[in-house]
Amino acid sequence: MPRNYFIRTFGCQMNEHDSGRAAGLLESLGYRRAASEDDADLVLLNTCAVRENADNKLYGTLGHLKSRKDARQAAGEDLTIVVGGCLAQKDGATVADKAPWVDVVYGTHNLVDLPQLLAQADSAEVPVIELVEQLETFPSALPAKRDVRHHAWVSIAVGCNNACTFCIVPSLRGPERSRRIGEIVHEVEQLVADDVVEVTLLGQNVNSYGRDLAGASRFAELLRELGEIDGLERVRFTSPHPRDFTEDVLQAMADTPNVMPHLHLPLQSGSDRVLRAMRRSYRRRRFLALVERTRELLPDASLTTDIIVGFPGETDEDFQATLEVVEQVRFDQAFTFQFSPRPGTPAAAMTDGSVDPHVVGERYRRLEAATRQHSQEAHERLVGTVQELLIDSPSKTDASRWSGRTRGNHLVHLPAPSFADGVEPPFAPGDLVTAEVVEAAANYAIADEARDVRRTAAGRTTSAALARGESWRTATQTAAPVAPAGAQLPVVGAPAR
Ligand code: SF4
Repeated sequence: MPRNYFIRTFGCQMNEHDSGRAAGLLESLGYRRAASEDDADLVLLNTCAVRENADNKLYGTLGHLKSRKDARQAAGEDLTIVVGGCLAQKDGATVADKAPWVDVVYGTHNLVDLPQLLAQADSAEVPVIELVEQLETFPSALPAKRDVRHHAWVSIAVGCNNACTFCIVPSLRGPERSRRIGEIVHEVEQLVADDVVEVTLLGQNVNSYGRDLAGASRFAELLRELGEIDGLERVRFTSPHPRDFTEDVLQAMADTPNVMPHLHLPLQSGSDRVLRAMRRSYRRRRFLALVERTRELLPDASLTTDIIVGFPGETDEDFQATLEVVEQVRFDQAFTFQFSPRPGTPAAAMTDGSVDPHVVGERYRRLEAATRQHSQEAHERLVGTVQELLIDSPSKTDASRWSGRTRGNHLVHLPAPSFADGVEPPFAPGDLVTAEVVEAAANYAIADEARDVRRTAAGRTTSAALARGESWRTATQTAAPVAPAGAQLPVVGAPAR
Protein backbone atom coordinates (compact mmCIF):
# COMPACT_ATOMS: atom_id res chain seq x y z
CA MET A 1 0.00 0.00 0.00
CA PRO A 2 1.42 3.45 -0.88
CA ARG A 3 2.25 5.42 2.22
CA ASN A 4 0.35 8.64 2.87
CA TYR A 5 1.89 12.00 3.59
CA PHE A 6 0.63 15.25 5.12
CA ILE A 7 2.46 18.59 4.95
CA ARG A 8 1.80 21.40 7.42
CA THR A 9 3.14 24.72 6.16
CA PHE A 10 3.96 27.57 8.53
CA GLY A 11 4.76 31.15 7.43
CA CYS A 12 5.10 32.82 4.04
CA GLN A 13 4.37 32.14 0.39
CA MET A 14 7.97 30.99 -0.14
CA ASN A 15 7.20 28.15 2.28
CA GLU A 16 3.99 27.43 0.37
CA HIS A 17 6.13 27.17 -2.76
CA ASP A 18 8.64 24.85 -1.09
CA SER A 19 5.86 22.69 0.37
CA GLY A 20 4.54 22.17 -3.17
CA ARG A 21 7.99 20.92 -4.11
CA ALA A 22 8.20 18.65 -1.06
CA ALA A 23 4.79 17.20 -2.04
CA GLY A 24 6.04 16.72 -5.60
CA LEU A 25 9.15 14.89 -4.33
CA LEU A 26 7.13 12.65 -2.01
CA GLU A 27 4.61 11.80 -4.74
CA SER A 28 7.42 10.98 -7.15
CA LEU A 29 8.60 8.52 -4.45
CA GLY A 30 5.15 6.90 -4.49
CA TYR A 31 3.59 8.60 -1.46
CA ARG A 32 -0.02 9.73 -1.74
CA ARG A 33 -1.57 12.71 -0.03
CA ALA A 34 -3.45 11.77 3.17
CA ALA A 35 -7.00 12.99 3.65
CA SER A 36 -5.95 14.46 7.02
CA GLU A 37 -2.94 14.67 9.31
CA ASP A 38 -4.36 11.85 11.45
CA ASP A 39 -4.37 9.48 8.45
CA ALA A 40 -0.77 10.20 7.49
CA ASP A 41 2.17 7.76 7.65
CA LEU A 42 4.53 10.71 7.15
CA VAL A 43 4.04 14.24 8.51
CA LEU A 44 6.29 17.01 7.20
CA LEU A 45 6.40 20.33 9.08
CA ASN A 46 7.69 23.12 6.85
CA THR A 47 8.62 25.63 9.51
CA CYS A 48 8.89 29.42 9.80
CA ALA A 49 11.22 31.41 12.05
CA VAL A 50 9.55 34.78 11.53
CA ARG A 51 6.07 34.38 12.85
CA GLU A 52 5.16 34.97 16.52
CA ASN A 53 6.11 32.12 18.89
CA ALA A 54 7.37 30.09 15.93
CA ASP A 55 9.49 27.94 18.25
CA ASN A 56 6.66 27.18 20.70
CA LYS A 57 4.41 26.25 17.80
CA LEU A 58 6.95 23.79 16.40
CA TYR A 59 7.80 22.05 19.67
CA GLY A 60 4.15 22.00 20.70
CA THR A 61 3.26 20.29 17.41
CA LEU A 62 6.13 17.82 17.79
CA GLY A 63 4.89 16.97 21.30
CA HIS A 64 1.46 16.18 19.86
CA LEU A 65 2.99 14.08 17.07
CA LYS A 66 4.98 12.05 19.63
CA SER A 67 1.83 10.65 21.20
CA ARG A 68 0.48 9.80 17.75
CA LYS A 69 3.74 8.08 16.85
CA ASP A 70 3.74 6.09 20.09
CA ALA A 71 0.14 5.00 19.47
CA ARG A 72 0.92 3.94 15.90
CA GLN A 73 4.03 2.02 16.96
CA ALA A 74 1.99 0.25 19.66
CA ALA A 75 -0.38 -0.80 16.84
CA GLY A 76 2.54 -2.15 14.80
CA GLU A 77 2.59 0.80 12.38
CA ASP A 78 4.92 3.81 12.24
CA LEU A 79 4.82 7.57 11.75
CA THR A 80 7.71 9.32 9.99
CA ILE A 81 8.18 12.89 11.25
CA VAL A 82 10.12 15.34 9.06
CA VAL A 83 11.02 18.92 10.01
CA GLY A 84 12.19 21.35 7.30
CA GLY A 85 12.22 25.07 6.52
CA CYS A 86 13.55 28.14 8.31
CA LEU A 87 13.33 27.04 11.96
CA ALA A 88 15.02 23.75 11.05
CA GLN A 89 17.77 25.74 9.32
CA LYS A 90 18.09 27.94 12.45
CA ASP A 91 17.85 25.28 15.17
CA GLY A 92 19.34 22.27 13.30
CA ALA A 93 20.36 19.52 15.78
CA THR A 94 18.52 21.32 18.59
CA VAL A 95 15.29 20.10 16.98
CA ALA A 96 16.43 16.49 17.51
CA ASP A 97 17.75 17.22 20.99
CA LYS A 98 14.37 18.62 22.03
CA ALA A 99 12.37 16.04 20.04
CA PRO A 100 14.44 12.86 19.55
CA TRP A 101 11.39 11.12 18.04
CA VAL A 102 11.82 13.21 14.87
CA ASP A 103 13.15 11.15 11.92
CA VAL A 104 14.54 13.76 9.50
CA VAL A 105 15.64 17.41 9.81
CA TYR A 106 16.62 19.36 6.68
CA GLY A 107 17.05 23.11 6.03
CA THR A 108 16.13 25.85 3.59
CA HIS A 109 18.98 25.02 1.18
CA ASN A 110 18.65 21.28 0.73
CA LEU A 111 15.05 20.26 0.08
CA VAL A 112 16.54 18.33 -2.86
CA ASP A 113 18.07 15.87 -0.33
CA LEU A 114 14.70 14.81 1.14
CA PRO A 115 14.45 11.46 -0.75
CA GLN A 116 17.94 10.36 0.26
CA LEU A 117 17.43 11.49 3.88
CA LEU A 118 14.19 9.48 4.10
CA ALA A 119 16.07 6.43 2.78
CA GLN A 120 18.72 6.90 5.48
CA ALA A 121 16.04 7.34 8.17
CA ASP A 122 14.51 3.96 7.25
CA SER A 123 17.45 2.15 8.87
CA ALA A 124 18.69 4.83 11.30
CA GLU A 125 18.15 4.57 15.08
CA VAL A 126 18.62 8.31 15.58
CA PRO A 127 17.25 11.37 13.72
CA VAL A 128 18.90 12.05 10.36
CA ILE A 129 19.94 15.72 10.31
CA GLU A 130 21.39 17.46 7.27
CA LEU A 131 21.77 21.21 6.82
CA VAL A 132 23.84 23.01 4.21
CA GLU A 133 24.95 26.64 4.28
CA GLN A 134 24.71 27.26 0.56
CA LEU A 135 21.84 26.59 -1.85
CA GLU A 136 22.94 24.03 -4.44
CA THR A 137 19.70 23.35 -6.26
CA PHE A 138 16.85 25.81 -6.66
CA PRO A 139 13.69 24.21 -5.23
CA SER A 140 12.03 25.31 -8.49
CA ALA A 141 13.97 22.56 -10.27
CA LEU A 142 12.11 19.93 -8.26
CA PRO A 143 8.78 18.30 -9.18
CA ALA A 144 5.81 20.31 -7.87
CA LYS A 145 2.37 19.30 -6.70
CA ARG A 146 -0.13 22.19 -6.73
CA ASP A 147 -3.07 22.35 -4.34
CA VAL A 148 -4.70 24.85 -6.69
CA ARG A 149 -4.85 23.79 -10.32
CA HIS A 150 -5.13 27.32 -11.75
CA HIS A 151 -2.51 29.11 -9.62
CA ALA A 152 1.21 28.57 -9.09
CA TRP A 153 3.90 30.15 -6.90
CA VAL A 154 7.00 30.76 -9.01
CA SER A 155 10.22 31.47 -7.14
CA ILE A 156 12.40 33.90 -9.11
CA ALA A 157 15.11 34.34 -6.51
CA VAL A 158 15.98 33.10 -3.03
CA GLY A 159 17.71 34.85 -0.16
CA CYS A 160 18.14 38.54 0.66
CA ASN A 161 21.10 40.97 0.69
CA ASN A 162 19.34 43.46 2.93
CA ALA A 163 19.88 43.58 6.68
CA CYS A 164 16.65 44.80 8.24
CA THR A 165 17.39 44.61 11.97
CA PHE A 166 14.14 42.81 12.88
CA CYS A 167 14.51 40.12 10.22
CA ILE A 168 16.07 36.67 10.42
CA VAL A 169 15.56 35.76 6.76
CA PRO A 170 19.02 36.68 5.41
CA SER A 171 20.72 34.44 7.97
CA LEU A 172 18.43 31.52 7.11
CA ARG A 173 17.87 31.89 3.39
CA GLY A 174 21.34 33.30 2.54
CA PRO A 175 22.34 35.95 -0.02
CA GLU A 176 20.20 36.73 -3.09
CA ARG A 177 20.39 34.14 -5.83
CA SER A 178 18.36 34.81 -8.96
CA ARG A 179 17.17 32.14 -11.36
CA ARG A 180 17.98 32.68 -15.02
CA ILE A 181 15.25 34.55 -16.84
CA GLY A 182 14.94 31.91 -19.57
CA GLU A 183 14.38 29.22 -16.97
CA ILE A 184 11.61 31.20 -15.25
CA VAL A 185 9.85 31.93 -18.55
CA HIS A 186 10.16 28.24 -19.52
CA GLU A 187 8.68 27.15 -16.17
CA VAL A 188 5.74 29.55 -16.56
CA GLU A 189 5.08 28.35 -20.12
CA GLN A 190 4.98 24.78 -18.78
CA LEU A 191 2.62 25.82 -15.99
CA VAL A 192 0.26 27.51 -18.45
CA ALA A 193 0.32 24.30 -20.52
CA ASP A 194 -0.73 22.56 -17.27
CA ASP A 195 -3.87 24.72 -16.76
CA VAL A 196 -2.29 27.55 -14.73
CA VAL A 197 -4.04 30.88 -15.27
CA GLU A 198 -2.30 32.98 -12.61
CA VAL A 199 1.27 32.97 -11.26
CA THR A 200 2.67 34.79 -8.24
CA LEU A 201 6.38 35.55 -8.56
CA LEU A 202 8.21 35.08 -5.26
CA GLY A 203 11.38 36.61 -3.87
CA GLN A 204 12.37 38.19 -0.58
CA ASN A 205 13.10 41.31 -2.63
CA VAL A 206 11.83 40.89 -6.20
CA ASN A 207 13.11 44.32 -7.27
CA SER A 208 16.71 43.21 -6.98
CA TYR A 209 16.02 40.27 -9.28
CA GLY A 210 18.93 39.58 -11.61
CA ARG A 211 21.52 41.80 -9.93
CA ASP A 212 23.64 38.74 -9.16
CA LEU A 213 23.44 37.44 -12.71
CA ALA A 214 25.87 38.28 -15.49
CA GLY A 215 24.03 40.14 -18.23
CA ALA A 216 21.24 42.64 -17.88
CA SER A 217 18.21 40.60 -16.82
CA ARG A 218 16.13 42.74 -14.47
CA PHE A 219 12.66 42.47 -12.92
CA ALA A 220 10.99 44.83 -15.44
CA GLU A 221 12.30 42.69 -18.32
CA LEU A 222 10.98 39.54 -16.66
CA LEU A 223 7.50 41.09 -16.31
CA ARG A 224 7.49 42.08 -19.99
CA GLU A 225 8.60 38.59 -21.06
CA LEU A 226 5.80 36.99 -19.04
CA GLY A 227 3.43 39.43 -20.75
CA GLU A 228 4.12 37.57 -24.02
CA ILE A 229 2.83 34.19 -22.79
CA ASP A 230 -0.55 33.25 -24.31
CA GLY A 231 -3.02 31.92 -21.79
CA LEU A 232 -1.27 33.52 -18.81
CA GLU A 233 -4.09 35.72 -17.53
CA ARG A 234 -2.58 37.14 -14.37
CA VAL A 235 0.90 37.85 -13.01
CA ARG A 236 1.35 38.94 -9.39
CA PHE A 237 4.54 39.32 -7.34
CA THR A 238 5.74 39.63 -3.73
CA SER A 239 7.71 41.16 -2.01
CA PRO A 240 9.19 44.31 -3.50
CA HIS A 241 11.44 46.60 -1.43
CA PRO A 242 10.60 50.34 -1.53
CA ARG A 243 14.29 51.32 -1.76
CA ASP A 244 14.88 49.23 -4.90
CA PHE A 245 11.60 50.02 -6.63
CA THR A 246 12.54 51.56 -9.97
CA GLU A 247 10.55 53.48 -12.58
CA ASP A 248 11.07 50.76 -15.22
CA VAL A 249 9.12 48.26 -13.10
CA LEU A 250 6.17 50.65 -12.77
CA GLN A 251 6.33 51.27 -16.52
CA ALA A 252 6.45 47.53 -17.23
CA MET A 253 3.38 47.06 -14.99
CA ALA A 254 1.55 49.85 -16.85
CA ASP A 255 2.49 48.45 -20.30
CA THR A 256 1.85 44.74 -19.65
CA PRO A 257 -1.88 43.85 -19.46
CA ASN A 258 -1.49 40.54 -17.63
CA VAL A 259 0.59 42.11 -14.82
CA MET A 260 -2.02 42.87 -12.17
CA PRO A 261 -2.47 46.46 -10.87
CA HIS A 262 -1.68 45.55 -7.26
CA LEU A 263 1.42 46.49 -5.34
CA HIS A 264 2.39 45.16 -1.91
CA LEU A 265 4.80 47.78 -0.60
CA PRO A 266 6.03 47.06 2.97
CA LEU A 267 6.28 50.41 4.83
CA GLN A 268 7.09 48.94 8.29
CA SER A 269 7.18 52.44 9.87
CA GLY A 270 6.39 56.04 8.88
CA SER A 271 9.13 57.46 11.11
CA ASP A 272 12.53 58.13 9.52
CA ARG A 273 14.16 57.60 12.92
CA VAL A 274 12.60 54.13 13.24
CA LEU A 275 13.28 53.27 9.58
CA ARG A 276 16.94 54.09 10.26
CA ALA A 277 16.92 51.81 13.35
CA MET A 278 15.28 49.10 11.22
CA ARG A 279 17.98 49.60 8.56
CA ARG A 280 15.26 49.81 5.89
CA SER A 281 17.45 52.17 3.78
CA TYR A 282 14.62 54.34 2.59
CA ARG A 283 12.82 57.19 4.28
CA ARG A 284 9.24 58.39 4.47
CA ARG A 285 9.69 60.93 1.62
CA ARG A 286 10.98 58.24 -0.74
CA PHE A 287 8.09 55.92 0.17
CA LEU A 288 5.46 58.63 -0.41
CA ALA A 289 7.08 59.68 -3.70
CA LEU A 290 6.93 56.06 -4.85
CA VAL A 291 3.23 55.84 -3.92
CA GLU A 292 2.53 59.09 -5.79
CA ARG A 293 4.38 57.88 -8.92
CA THR A 294 2.57 54.52 -8.74
CA ARG A 295 -0.79 56.30 -8.67
CA GLU A 296 0.25 58.45 -11.64
CA LEU A 297 1.25 55.48 -13.81
CA LEU A 298 -1.27 52.97 -12.41
CA PRO A 299 -4.33 54.98 -11.32
CA ASP A 300 -6.40 51.83 -10.63
CA ALA A 301 -3.67 50.05 -8.68
CA SER A 302 -4.44 48.77 -5.20
CA LEU A 303 -1.79 49.24 -2.55
CA THR A 304 -1.20 46.98 0.41
CA THR A 305 1.52 47.05 3.05
CA ASP A 306 3.17 45.60 6.20
CA ILE A 307 3.61 47.73 9.34
CA ILE A 308 5.34 46.96 12.66
CA VAL A 309 4.35 48.88 15.81
CA GLY A 310 6.36 48.95 19.02
CA PHE A 311 9.81 48.64 17.42
CA PRO A 312 12.44 49.27 20.14
CA GLY A 313 12.75 53.00 20.81
CA GLU A 314 9.51 53.90 19.03
CA THR A 315 8.13 57.11 20.61
CA ASP A 316 4.61 58.60 20.44
CA GLU A 317 5.95 60.98 17.77
CA ASP A 318 7.31 58.05 15.74
CA PHE A 319 3.98 56.26 15.94
CA GLN A 320 2.20 59.47 14.99
CA ALA A 321 4.45 59.64 11.91
CA THR A 322 3.31 56.12 10.95
CA LEU A 323 -0.35 57.10 11.37
CA GLU A 324 0.20 60.18 9.18
CA VAL A 325 1.64 58.09 6.31
CA VAL A 326 -1.23 55.61 6.68
CA GLU A 327 -3.78 58.44 6.57
CA GLN A 328 -2.07 59.93 3.51
CA VAL A 329 -1.76 56.68 1.51
CA ARG A 330 -5.02 54.99 2.70
CA PHE A 331 -3.87 51.43 1.84
CA ASP A 332 -6.38 48.97 0.42
CA GLN A 333 -5.16 46.55 3.09
CA ALA A 334 -2.45 46.60 5.76
CA PHE A 335 -0.87 43.61 7.52
CA THR A 336 -0.01 44.96 10.95
CA PHE A 337 2.27 43.37 13.54
CA GLN A 338 3.27 44.09 17.12
CA PHE A 339 7.08 43.99 17.31
CA SER A 340 8.38 40.76 18.86
CA PRO A 341 12.14 40.15 19.13
CA ARG A 342 13.51 37.32 16.93
CA PRO A 343 16.42 35.56 18.58
CA GLY A 344 19.51 36.12 16.44
CA THR A 345 18.41 39.50 14.98
CA PRO A 346 20.06 42.86 15.88
CA ALA A 347 16.67 44.20 17.04
CA ALA A 348 16.43 41.40 19.62
CA ALA A 349 19.44 42.98 21.36
CA MET A 350 17.82 46.43 21.49
CA THR A 351 16.35 45.68 24.92
CA ASP A 352 17.03 49.21 26.32
CA GLY A 353 14.47 50.63 23.93
CA SER A 354 11.72 48.10 24.63
CA VAL A 355 8.29 49.74 24.45
CA ASP A 356 5.77 49.01 27.21
CA PRO A 357 3.50 46.18 25.96
CA HIS A 358 0.37 48.16 26.97
CA VAL A 359 1.56 51.09 24.89
CA VAL A 360 2.26 48.74 21.97
CA GLY A 361 -1.21 47.21 22.32
CA GLU A 362 -2.83 50.66 22.37
CA ARG A 363 -0.90 51.79 19.29
CA TYR A 364 -1.74 48.51 17.53
CA ARG A 365 -5.47 49.04 18.18
CA ARG A 366 -5.33 52.60 16.85
CA LEU A 367 -3.45 51.51 13.71
CA GLU A 368 -5.82 48.58 13.16
CA ALA A 369 -8.83 50.91 13.42
CA ALA A 370 -7.35 53.31 10.84
CA THR A 371 -6.26 50.64 8.34
CA ARG A 372 -9.56 48.80 8.71
CA GLN A 373 -11.45 52.01 7.87
CA HIS A 374 -9.30 52.48 4.76
CA SER A 375 -9.92 48.89 3.65
CA GLN A 376 -13.65 49.48 4.09
CA GLU A 377 -13.36 52.59 1.90
CA ALA A 378 -11.37 50.67 -0.71
CA HIS A 379 -14.12 48.03 -0.95
CA GLU A 380 -16.80 50.76 -1.03
CA ARG A 381 -15.08 52.26 -4.11
CA LEU A 382 -15.80 48.94 -5.87
CA VAL A 383 -19.57 49.13 -5.23
CA GLY A 384 -21.47 49.79 -8.45
CA THR A 385 -18.50 48.74 -10.62
CA VAL A 386 -18.32 45.59 -12.74
CA GLN A 387 -15.19 43.64 -11.82
CA GLU A 388 -13.38 40.77 -13.54
CA LEU A 389 -13.01 38.00 -10.93
CA LEU A 390 -10.71 34.98 -11.04
CA ILE A 391 -12.76 32.30 -9.26
CA ASP A 392 -10.74 30.64 -6.49
CA SER A 393 -12.99 28.42 -4.39
CA PRO A 394 -16.26 28.11 -2.45
CA SER A 395 -16.49 30.82 0.25
CA LYS A 396 -14.90 29.59 3.48
CA THR A 397 -17.74 31.13 5.53
CA ASP A 398 -20.87 30.80 3.37
CA ALA A 399 -21.64 27.70 1.25
CA SER A 400 -24.08 29.66 -0.92
CA ARG A 401 -21.23 31.79 -2.17
CA TRP A 402 -18.03 31.31 -4.12
CA SER A 403 -14.96 33.55 -3.82
CA GLY A 404 -12.77 35.24 -6.36
CA ARG A 405 -10.27 38.05 -6.67
CA THR A 406 -10.36 41.25 -8.69
CA ARG A 407 -7.36 42.35 -10.76
CA GLY A 408 -6.52 44.56 -7.74
CA ASN A 409 -6.48 41.41 -5.55
CA HIS A 410 -9.63 42.37 -3.61
CA LEU A 411 -11.54 39.40 -2.24
CA VAL A 412 -15.10 39.27 -3.62
CA HIS A 413 -17.83 36.74 -2.81
CA LEU A 414 -20.59 36.07 -5.36
CA PRO A 415 -23.59 33.71 -5.54
CA ALA A 416 -22.48 30.13 -6.20
CA PRO A 417 -23.83 28.81 -9.50
CA SER A 418 -26.55 26.20 -9.05
CA PHE A 419 -25.90 22.81 -10.65
CA ALA A 420 -27.31 19.35 -10.04
CA ASP A 421 -25.26 16.24 -9.18
CA GLY A 422 -23.56 14.87 -12.25
CA VAL A 423 -23.97 18.18 -14.10
CA GLU A 424 -21.03 20.49 -14.79
CA PRO A 425 -21.32 23.92 -13.12
CA PRO A 426 -21.38 26.84 -15.63
CA PHE A 427 -18.06 28.04 -14.24
CA ALA A 428 -15.52 26.84 -11.71
CA PRO A 429 -12.25 27.79 -9.97
CA GLY A 430 -9.82 29.01 -12.61
CA ASP A 431 -12.51 30.65 -14.75
CA LEU A 432 -12.84 34.42 -15.15
CA VAL A 433 -16.26 35.98 -14.66
CA THR A 434 -17.51 39.57 -14.54
CA ALA A 435 -19.92 40.64 -11.83
CA GLU A 436 -21.23 43.88 -10.36
CA VAL A 437 -20.09 44.65 -6.80
CA VAL A 438 -23.13 45.50 -4.69
CA GLU A 439 -21.87 45.56 -1.09
CA ALA A 440 -18.64 46.34 0.81
CA ALA A 441 -17.11 45.19 4.08
CA ALA A 442 -13.72 45.82 5.67
CA ASN A 443 -11.98 42.71 4.28
CA TYR A 444 -14.09 41.76 1.27
CA ALA A 445 -16.89 42.82 -1.07
CA ILE A 446 -20.08 41.11 -2.26
CA ALA A 447 -21.03 40.87 -5.93
CA ASP A 448 -24.18 40.01 -7.80
CA GLU A 449 -24.69 36.98 -10.07
CA ALA A 450 -21.91 36.33 -12.56
CA ARG A 451 -22.63 38.06 -15.91
CA ASP A 452 -20.04 37.03 -18.53
CA VAL A 453 -18.01 33.88 -18.08
CA ARG A 454 -14.64 33.30 -19.72
CA ARG A 455 -13.84 29.59 -19.43
CA THR A 456 -10.28 28.43 -19.00
CA ALA A 457 -8.77 24.94 -19.27
CA ALA A 458 -8.46 24.89 -15.47
CA GLY A 459 -12.14 25.81 -15.06
CA ARG A 460 -13.28 23.14 -17.49
CA THR A 461 -11.12 20.44 -15.89
CA THR A 462 -12.45 21.33 -12.43
CA SER A 463 -16.07 21.49 -13.65
CA ALA A 464 -15.78 18.00 -15.14
CA ALA A 465 -14.26 16.66 -11.91
CA LEU A 466 -17.07 18.19 -9.83
CA ALA A 467 -19.66 16.68 -12.20
CA ARG A 468 -17.97 13.27 -11.64
CA GLY A 469 -18.68 13.81 -7.93
CA GLU A 470 -15.07 14.47 -6.88
CA SER A 471 -14.55 16.43 -3.65
CA TRP A 472 -13.51 20.05 -3.87
CA ARG A 473 -10.01 19.12 -2.71
CA THR A 474 -9.31 16.56 -5.41
CA ALA A 475 -11.27 18.46 -8.09
CA THR A 476 -9.15 21.61 -7.70
CA GLN A 477 -5.65 20.18 -7.25
CA THR A 478 -3.26 18.88 -9.88
CA ALA A 479 -3.14 15.12 -10.38
CA ALA A 480 0.52 14.12 -10.44
CA PRO A 481 3.61 16.20 -9.66
CA VAL A 482 4.95 18.25 -12.56
CA ALA A 483 8.68 17.89 -13.03
CA PRO A 484 10.35 20.69 -15.05
CA ALA A 485 10.69 18.70 -18.34
CA GLY A 486 14.30 18.39 -19.55
CA ALA A 487 15.41 21.00 -17.02
CA GLN A 488 18.97 20.31 -15.93
CA LEU A 489 19.32 20.92 -12.18
CA PRO A 490 20.77 24.44 -12.53
CA VAL A 491 24.02 25.17 -10.69
CA VAL A 492 23.75 28.47 -8.79
CA GLY A 493 25.82 31.30 -10.33
CA ALA A 494 25.85 29.82 -13.84
CA PRO A 495 25.98 32.46 -16.59
CA ALA A 496 22.66 34.08 -17.60
CA ARG A 497 20.68 32.41 -20.31
S1 SF4 B 1 14.13 42.94 2.81
FE1 SF4 B 1 14.44 43.06 5.02
S2 SF4 B 1 12.52 42.24 5.85
FE2 SF4 B 1 12.62 41.57 3.73
S3 SF4 B 1 13.59 39.54 3.79
FE3 SF4 B 1 15.19 41.06 3.44
S4 SF4 B 1 16.02 41.52 5.47
FE4 SF4 B 1 14.01 40.56 5.75
